[in-house]
Amino acid sequence: MSAKLIKGPEVAAAIREQIAEELVTLKEKTGKVPGLAVILVGEDPASKAYVGNKEKTSKALGFNSVVQRVPVETTQEELLKMIDAYNNDDDIQGILVQLPLPDHIEEKAVIDAISVEKDVDGFHPINVGNLMIGDDCYIPCTPHGCMKMLEYIGFDLKGKNAVVVGRSNIVGKPVALLLLQQHASVTICHSRTADLGAVCREADVLVVAVGRPEMITGDMIKPGAVVIDVGINRVNDKLVGDVHFESAAQKASYITPVPGGVGPMTITMLMLNTMEAFKRKHNIK
Ligand code: NDP
Repeated sequence: MSAKLIKGPEVAAAIREQIAEELVTLKEKTGKVPGLAVILVGEDPASKAYVGNKEKTSKALGFNSVVQRVPVETTQEELLKMIDAYNNDDDIQGILVQLPLPDHIEEKAVIDAISVEKDVDGFHPINVGNLMIGDDCYIPCTPHGCMKMLEYIGFDLKGKNAVVVGRSNIVGKPVALLLLQQHASVTICHSRTADLGAVCREADVLVVAVGRPEMITGDMIKPGAVVIDVGINRVNDKLVGDVHFESAAQKASYITPVPGGVGPMTITMLMLNTMEAFKRKHNIK
């Protein structure tokens, strides 16, 4: 079997088109556009690139894009003040502080400071709790992107076995909850899972978010499974996923490539969450 590709740029473009269309109506109704504030502390090259892409996408869609780049010496107190100002800014509906933060700033204090209504990353404990109980919330962007990719190929999760490898708060756990909401039977694996291969071979859908290059190989994949590879690893100046693409593609029915898979979805989902925040603010369903 040779798997079909689920192409991130293609799925993301379709969603951006929907956002652009809806934005026209929202602008007519309110006379305003969604506002997204991104704060970058320091000069980490990967973070700079991510923030640059967020700014570009946000502007291209016609959002009100505000990016605040502050030096690495910025104190936690100063950062919390900036967040507070955006919490109280009526032109801003989404706030994102680029992670990771320098060591002298406590990540939890920063996440907790963002207003729940403006937490478009979906990391605030109240949003996390609401995701858990299936209530209204902002869904974290990468897991949301994974689910949109499954939706795009028309995959019905009801009654299927889903296996998630990785249990981080930003990918593994939320994606497992979302799969469960769609009525899959979900198993979460991690570094202490005994016989990972045997568990993965039961998966009709396998979502891998580990951060170990090409760890999941074709022999760990059930014939016909759908494989979503969230991993992004730089090996010898080349990007590879957590799944060994060539061997996995021989077994899977669908697979996301790296690069060009889940990666491009994340920013698009951030834009979708920001538009959702704008609609909530203006009581638009
Ligand atoms: P974390 O490091 O936070 O979590 C990794 C998880 O993998 C942990 O739960 C860990 O288990 C598990 N793990 C580690 N080694 C093994 C192993 N040998 N067998 C089974 N499980 C293992 O990573 P993230 O979730 O933040 O990111 C995962 C990957 O996804 C990275 O490559 C990252 O770059 C990428 N990523 C991509 C995004 C995008 O496409 N936009 C966004 C976010 C992440 P344990 O809990 O036991 O330690």
